[in-house]
Parts: sequence; structure tokens; C-alpha cells
Amino acid sequence: MSAEIIDGRRCADELKHGLAAAAAALRERDAAPGLATIAVGDDFSAGAYERRLARLAGEVEIAHERVSLAADSSQEEVVAQIRRLNADPAITGILVLRPLPPQMDEPEVFRAIDPAKDIEAVHPENAGLLALGVPRFVPSTAASAFHLLDAWLDSAGEDRADFYHRSLIVVVGRSNNVGKPCVSLGYDRQAAVASVDEWASITGRLGTITRRADVLIVAAGVPGLIRAEHVGSGAVVIDVGINPQTAPDGSVRMVGDVDFDSVAQWARAVTPVPGGVGPLTDVWLLRNTIVAARRAAGLEVPELDALPRAVVEAL
Ligand code: NAD
Repeated sequence: MSAEIIDGRRCADELKHGLAAAAAALRERDAAPGLATIAVGDDFSAGAYERRLARLAGEVEIAHERVSLAADSSQEEVVAQIRRLNADPAITGILVLRPLPPQMDEPEVFRAIDPAKDIEAVHPENAGLLALGVPRFVPSTAASAFHLLDAWLDSAGEDRADFYHRSLIVVVGRSNNVGKPCVSLGYDRQAAVASVDEWASITGRLGTITRRADVLIVAAGVPGLIRAEHVGSGAVVIDVGINPQTAPDGSVRMVGDVDFDSVAQWARAVTPVPGGVGPLTDVWLLRNTIVAARRAAGLEVPELDALPRAVVEAL
């Protein structure tokens, strides 16, 4: 079998056009969305993510405030910035980039974010709502993984509900920001869901579990972790991993957690890296920034009827 490639860039482009229209509609109502990113230190991946978001925000005309703090900043300094942004009506979404330096208590920093502006659902209130199946915001990476799955199912002529009801989704990686939200979204679709972390690898059970998956979502941060022998024939594989790899000439390229070439021989469909989950994640974060702006303006219900499909999906 040679897998179908799930094109994240195409999905991202469709959603992006909708976002530009939705942002323009909000500006006309004096309710413009605004994104703030806070980076502490100079992590390579966090910096790359921030630059991508800045570029995308410019393209869809959403204001972006970049807060950049030194790696030796105190937690009080970070929290003071968050409180300032909480109080700023021009900012509707706040993203604190990970990783934070070791002197920070990450949950305490996240707790400082106004839940109404917590577009990645890292505040315990929003994480709890997500776990209960009534999310205020769906974290962008998990949202993107399932957006790609849903879009691929539509294109393959599969009935989404029927597919999920008879599927086992295995999620590799159990972080609060990616793995656990993916598990919650799998539950929401009434699929059977299994979650594994590094202990499945350490104890030699990873392949035994992942080979059973109809849908395999991989978010471990380990380049090439999943190879052909970890994948059952006909599985749909979503590679969330984005790992910098330095070539001998010093250039850096991003690789996934899935060994694409070998897995593509077995899988029914697979996302590439780059060009899979990543581009859509960026767009989803801005989508959440727009949702927050609509709520702040008292616009719970979008004016769906007059809008094209891409815009409706963006709200
Ligand atoms: P994390 O380090 O917070 O969590 C990693 C998880 O994977 C942990 O639960 C860990 O136990 C598990 N794990 C580690 N090694 C493993 C192994 N050998 N076998 C099985 N499980 C293992 O990482 P994260 O923030 O969840 O990110 C994971 C990956 O996803 C990274 O490559 C990151 O860059 C990428 N990422 C991509 C996007 C995107 O938009 N595509 C967004 C966020 C993160």
C-alpha cells in the first residue's frame, strides 16, 4: 500500500481565507481580534513558531503583540506581563510559548492567564472544560490533528461518525498541551482511545499497542520514533512531531516523529512534516483569537448564514 498524503497546507489555506474575512467583520464592529505571544528565553522551536504566527497574523490582518523576555526573567516578571495583557482590551488571545525556563512554575504561570483569553486552554479551568467535553477553546494542535482527520474522512467518502465509532485511536505522547487534548477529542467523537507515553517504549510495548490503531496520532518529540513495524496495515497516521535536525552543513530542517517513507508503505493515509499538522495549528490559534474577540464583543452566535463555508468553519 502507498499511503495518501494528507495535505495540511491546503486545509490551512482554506481556513486562512475564512479568518481574514472574520477578522475584517470584527474590525468593522470595533471589536478587532488581537494576539499576544510571550516568549521567555530563546528556544529555537518557540522562536520559529512565534515568527510563523507573526507572519500569519499579518496576512489575515490580526494585530500581534510580541513580548520577549530574557531567559533569566523571574516568574513575577512573566506574570506581570500576563496581567497587563489580561487588562488590555486590544488583546483577545494570549499565548505563553513553551518551554519556559526551569525557574518557572509552568502551571502557576498558566493560571495567571485570563481564562477568556486563554486560547490554548492551558488555564486549569479551560483544561477542565475540555476534559468534560464542553471546551471554551480547543487547543490548536489537537484541534488541527482532528481537523485534518475529519477533512480526510470527508474526502475519502467515509461517514465521520461511523468511522470514529468503530475506530481505535492510539495517541503516542501524553503532554498536557497535545497528547491529553487529543485523547479528549477522541472521546468526544465516541471512539475507543488508548494513550501511551515513554513508558510504553521503555517497557517494549509501543509497537504492540500502536499496531492496533485505526488512527495513530504521534506527539512524542522523538524523530522517527514510529516506523513501519509500529503501524497496522491501513491505519491513518497523524504526525504531530516537529523536531529540529541539524545537517552537517549547519542548516536546520524540521522532521516529524514518524519515519514517513517506511510508514507510507503501510498506512492508508499519513500527514507529512513539514506540511501536515503544523501549518494548520498556526491558523487554529488565530481562529481561537477570533472566537475570543467575538465573545468579548458579546457575539456568541456567528452570523453563519451570510458567510461562506470556510468562514463558518473558522468560527
Ligand atoms: P512533551 O515533551 O511535552 O511530551 C512528550 C510526550 O511524549 C510525553 O508524554 C512523553 O512521555 C512521550 N514520549 C517521549 N518519548 C517517548 C517514546 N520514546 N515513546 C513514547 N512516548 C514518548 O512534548 P509536546 O509538547 O507534547 O510535543 C510533542 C511533539 O509535538 C514535539 O515534537 C513538538 O515539537 C511537537 N509539536 C507540534 C505542534 C504542531 O503544531 N504540529 C505543536 C506542539 C508540539
